[in-house]
Amino acid sequence: MFRKMNNTLKLVQTLRQTQAKRSIACLSALPETHQMLQKTCRDFATEMLIPNAAKADKEHLYPEQQIKKMGELGLMAIAIPEEYGGTGLDSLAYAIAMEEISRGCASAGVIMSVNNSLYLGPILAFGNDNQKKKFIAPYTTGEKIGCFALSEPGNGSDAGAASTTASDKGDHYLLNGTKAWITNAFEGGAAIVFATTDKSLKHKGISAFIVTKGINGFSIGKKEDKLGIRASSTCQLIFEDCIIPKENMLGQPGYGFKIAMKTLDAGRIGIASQALGIAQASLELAVDYAQKRTAFGKPIAKLQAIQGKIADMALKIESARLLTWRSAWLKDNNQSYTKEAAMAKLSASEAATFCSHQCIQILGGMGYVSDMAAERYYRDARITEIYEGTSEIQRMVISAAALKEYGS
Ligand SMILES: Cc1cc2nc3c(=O)[nH]c(=O)nc-3n(C[C@H](O)[C@H](O)[C@H](O)COP(=O)(O)OP(=O)(O)OC[C@H]3O[C@@H](n4cnc5c(N)ncnc54)[C@H](O)[C@@H]3O)c2cc1C
Repeated sequence: MFRKMNNTLKLVQTLRQTQAKRSIACLSALPETHQMLQKTCRDFATEMLIPNAAKADKEHLYPEQQIKKMGELGLMAIAIPEEYGGTGLDSLAYAIAMEEISRGCASAGVIMSVNNSLYLGPILAFGNDNQKKKFIAPYTTGEKIGCFALSEPGNGSDAGAASTTASDKGDHYLLNGTKAWITNAFEGGAAIVFATTDKSLKHKGISAFIVTKGINGFSIGKKEDKLGIRASSTCQLIFEDCIIPKENMLGQPGYGFKIAMKTLDAGRIGIASQALGIAQASLELAVDYAQKRTAFGKPIAKLQAIQGKIADMALKIESARLLTWRSAWLKDNNQSYTKEAAMAKLSASEAATFCSHQCIQILGGMGYVSDMAAERYYRDARITEIYEGTSEIQRMVISAAALKEYGS
């Protein structure tokens, strides 16, 4: 493990030296530094995530030791600058690491993604100096994890219809309402919570707050019993006359919806990478099985029907990976990437659903039982088409951009 940590530290130094040289060429051949990160994460997944993933899924166990080790490796705050306790790498590095971690355990992937993109990301982008100092460093090590609370029981895709209220009481805000489906809620130490300060302004009345666990009036609902990513927790956050100090508002009053949308753009790179990890794991399992399993006197990998499925899986994964890495590259180069992140998330999540489905088909009966990982991949893949914007919402984002780009 120490060898790996040293590798990661060396990697950070080398990456900084080569950052100026990075170009779009990285999309066809990764820089050596990113290849090293990929290998470090793959080795870690092989040693620590894959052996634990089935049990953690079955028993709904938060992978505490694994997340702490990921913190030691710098994976819980990859793109956060070192001055705040982060690893100081870029979004492409984040995408690569997320894929490898999710290939080993999709639950560890979403825990990492929410902490990196949805909790630390908006504090880094929109927080003031005090907020950055106070709320980033403790969440970079894997000891503490953060949450992002936008959805409510009554609205998910229509996030602008938030009904949780934050009433201005002079020296503080009073938070009332319920947030639903919040990843990391059970273990989380803090959350970015979106609430309306003025309902008449609709989405322009929403503000964002950093809310820490343990304060009066803030409780956590029961853990949802989910189809997949069962080692990560999903609960409601309940606010009843919860006092939030004014200095905990993130950004300006009424800027919350913009913060949420910008945060989700970045988050979609993480979920696209999570989906790629699940898809890649499905492909590798299917290929391994197809080469070993014989039917009609030969390995099923020699059958054209099986080869066609493997070709379609590989094609979908590689195209989605290019879109994902491209959106990360655009982000790293301060270019607009809303459309590209939506394309990446849509194509990678649909690839994960497709590949995990085909993996079960190639494994036949063995794909349908929990002795093999295929059925878990199939269950884990499904959520990637739902959270951080459903596939329908991604199509809306992409079509809006395309109509603007190509319309008269
Ligand atoms: C396991 C899990 C973890 C989650 N983690 C988080 C989290 O950490 N933080 C958080 O804030 N939220 C989280 N969510 C919530 C998630 O983001 C929402 O479930 C998602 O955005 C969809 O919202 P909804 O469930 O309310 O569905 P709805 O918005 O009610 O949508 C229902 C259906 O209608 C479709 N639909 C809705 N509007 C349109 C439209 N305009 N055009 C076409 N179709 C449309 C949707 O695509 C979907 O098919 C999580 C959800 C789950 C299940």
